[in-house]
Amino acid sequence: MSSYPFTMGAHQWTVDASRRRSERLRASGRYGETDATALTVYLDCDLPATLWNDTLIHELIHAAAATSGLTHRLTEGLEEDIAASLAPYIAQALEALTAGGLR
Ligand SMILES: [Zn+2]
Repeated sequence: MSSYPFTMGAHQWTVDASRRRSERLRASGRYGETDATALTVYLDCDLPATLWNDTLIHELIHAAAATSGLTHRLTEGLEEDIAASLAPYIAQALEALTAGGLR
């Protein structure tokens, strides 16, 4: 399976980690991409686990920014800086908490 639906706010989003999309991402030098119009997060299915988690969280920050309307109040560069800056810390904390047995 390469398509994973999730709900964010009132919207039904999907993570698409299909082979076809992964090859397109790789061709453009990206690990992931968020399309707020299609409500879809694209992820390269061949990323190693740590990079997968970082990229997923990064793209979910973009999805949350779009869903919350924050995207319209930020420049594209600032939103990218926020996602790039925060995602590794959130991924690190989630990994530690999960390993520590938090739910
Ligand atoms: Zn980004």
